[in-house]
Amino acid sequence: DRLRGSRGGAFARIFGIETEYGVSLTGTERLCPAPDIARTMFQPVISRARSTNTYLQNGARLYLDVGSHPEYATAEARTPLDAVKQDLAGERIVARLALRAQKQLQREYGAEARVHVFKNNVDASGQSFGCHENYLLRRHVSLDDVRRLLVPFLVTRQLFSGAGKVTRDGFELSQRADYLDEAVSSATTRSRPMVNTRDEPHADPELFRRLHVIVGDSNRSQVATWMKLATTHLVLCIIEEAIEKGSATPFERCALVSPGKAIRAVSRDLTGRAMIDVVADSGEQHSAQSSALSIQHVYLEAAQDFVSRHSGLGSSVLDDAGQVLELWGRALQAIEAGNWQALSDWVDWAAKLRIINALNRRGRAHMGKSSPSWAQMKMLDFEYHDIVNGHVIESLERHRQLKTLISKEMISDSASNPPADTRARLRGLFVRRALASDIPWSCDWTHLVAMGDHHAEFEIMDPFMSDVTPDFEEFIDSMAPGYIERDS
Ligand code: ATP
Ligand code: MG
Ligand code: MG
Repeated sequence: DRLRGSRGGAFARIFGIETEYGVSLTGTERLCPAPDIARTMFQPVISRARSTNTYLQNGARLYLDVGSHPEYATAEARTPLDAVKQDLAGERIVARLALRAQKQLQREYGAEARVHVFKNNVDASGQSFGCHENYLLRRHVSLDDVRRLLVPFLVTRQLFSGAGKVTRDGFELSQRADYLDEAVSSATTRSRPMVNTRDEPHADPELFRRLHVIVGDSNRSQVATWMKLATTHLVLCIIEEAIEKGSATPFERCALVSPGKAIRAVSRDLTGRAMIDVVADSGEQHSAQSSALSIQHVYLEAAQDFVSRHSGLGSSVLDDAGQVLELWGRALQAIEAGNWQALSDWVDWAAKLRIINALNRRGRAHMGKSSPSWAQMKMLDFEYHDIVNGHVIESLERHRQLKTLISKEMISDSASNPPADTRARLRGLFVRRALASDIPWSCDWTHLVAMGDHHAEFEIMDPFMSDVTPDFEEFIDSMAPGYIERDS
C-alpha cells in the first residue's frame, strides 16, 4: 500500500478546523427562520454540487446538515499557520454566500434586510454549536492519556483562547464552558464531552488517531486561532514522546477531578486564580487544588523544555516555536499581573471586553445618558462575531488594535488553493478537474470518486501524501481525456 503508512516525521501533524456558523436576518418586520436563510445561502452550492454537502477546489468541505448551521471544515494543513489561512478562506467563502443570499432575501423581506453570520458558539436563544479542532495523533496515546494529560490544558487554555461572552452576571472568558461536562466520551446525546472519541482517523488506523477536540471557542483573532493550535500541538508532542518512551509527564498532577466544574470555574474568573480540584499524586488519598494559571505554567514550562531539547531538529517540531512560547508566557504574565488589557491585541475575550468597557465609559461620560443596557452589550458581543455585516473586527484590525498574521491576498489565495503539502493538494486537483469536466463525482477525506461513464476511484489514506504520482495523473486524466487545465 504505497499511500498508506507515512508518518511524515516524528513530530509531523495534520491540523484541521471545523467551524459552524449561526445565521439570522434583521431589518425586517417579518421573521425569517434560520433554516430558510441557510438554505438560501446554499442555493449556489446545490446547483453546483447537487447536494448541500460538498468539497471545494481548496480541499475543504462545505456543508449544511438539517438545521441552520452552515459548516466549513478546512482542508488538512501541516502547520497551524496554514490551518489559520484555510479557516479564514472559509470565512470569506461563507461571507460571499451570505451576501448573495442577502440580495435575494431583500426581494422578499425588503431592502433593509441584513444577513448576519456569526462565527461564535452560542446563539441568541442559548443554543450552542461548535468549533472543532482536529489533530492527527499517534495511536499509542490512549484516550485515557488524553483525559488525564491533555484535558487540563484544554480547560485552562481559555485564558488566552476564550472568545469571551457577555452574560447576565457580567462577562466570561469562554463561549462553550456552560455546554460541556465530561472530559472524553463517545456518546453525543446525553453527555457533553470536551473530546469526542468517535474513531475516524482518516488515516492508517494502526498508526494514528484523529483527535477531535470540541471544547474550543471559535476565534476571530487570527493570532488566537494560531496560538490555540500551536500550543496544543506542542503539548501533544510532549505527550506522544513521553508515552512512547514510557516516561512520566509533569501533567499527571494536573488531571482534573471534575472537568465540567473546572471549565466553568476557569471561564468565570478573569484573574486565572480560581481554585480547581486536581487529582493529587498517586498514593495520596486526597485531591489537591490548583489554579488555571499554575496549570498553564506547568504546560508552558514543559513546552519550553521540550522545544529546547529538540531545537537541533529546527523547524520539525514547529515553525516559530520561539514566538509561540514567548506569546504564551507573556499572556500568563499579563493575567498574573491583573493586566489583561495588554492582551487585547490578540486574545479575543480581552479585545471584546476592552470595547465593552469603552462603551460603558462613553455611556457614563454623557450626562443624562445611562450606562449601556444589557441588550446593547449583547449586541456588541454578537457584532464581534458577525463575518458579514459586523464591523468590529475590521475596525480593530484597521486601527492595529488587533494583530493579523495573514494578508487579504493570502486569504483570497487560500480560498482557491489547498495547502501544497498534504493530500488536500490532490483533492483540490480532483475537484477542479471534476467541475471543469462536468462529470458526476464525489469524495471524502480519503477517497476521490469519478462517477458515470468514466467511473474511477482513488484512495489516499496518508494525509501527508501530496505528490502527483503517475497513478494519480492517470486517474485524473481518465476523468476528462483531452481536457486542458485552465487557470481559474
Ligand atoms: P462532524 O463533527 O461535523 O460530524 P467530523 O468532525 O467527523 O464531522 P468533518 O466535519 O468532515 O468531520 O471535518 C474533518 C476535519 O478533520 C477537517 O478539518 C479535516 O481537514 C480534518 N482531517 C482530515 N483528516 C485528518 C487526519 N487524518 N487527522 C487530523 N485531521 C484530519
Ligand atoms: Mg464537521
Ligand atoms: Mg467535527
